[in-house]
Amino acid sequence: MPVYEYRCRKCDEKFEELVRNERQKIACPKCRTKKVEKLFSVFGIGLPGAGAPAGGGGCGGCSGGS
Ligand SMILES: [Zn+2]
Repeated sequence: MPVYEYRCRKCDEKFEELVRNERQKIACPKCRTKKVEKLFSVFGIGLPGAGAPAGGGGCGGCSGGS
């Protein structure tokens, strides 16, 4: 089961939550609000064209390069 990192929009608390399913309601452990936002891990999701590492994503060494 994945563990995601969240940040509370109310008190700015950062916390990790074990997510069992996508529809699970996440609440801040500190102030109990559900107004939290999921923080994506650094290497989790890469936006195309936004700060992509040189050489492209994925396997840079096995494709022979450019
Ligand atoms: Zn909070």
